[in-house]
Amino acid sequence: MKCEELAELVTGLLEGALPADKKLGARVHLWICGHCRRYVDQMKRTVRFLADAPPPPPPPPEMEARIVARLLAGRTGE
Ligand SMILES: [Zn+2]
Repeated sequence: MKCEELAELVTGLLEGALPADKKLGARVHLWICGHCRRYVDQMKRTVRFLADAPPPPPPPPEMEARIVARLLAGRTGE
């Protein structure tokens, strides 16, 4: 397996969605290739970071009022 092939499999590997033979190939490659090991580590950290990140805060209420006001204002022109 080449580095490019592994890069394509990383997402599946992290999700546990790879068929057994591909998973084995990926593991063997990671065992011998420090470059890809670092790459996968980085991906894992990113995935964990995204999973732990809190949801974005809701917009402030005045923003909603402003949007509604703008929609209403647009309608008066009909
Ligand atoms: Zn590699």
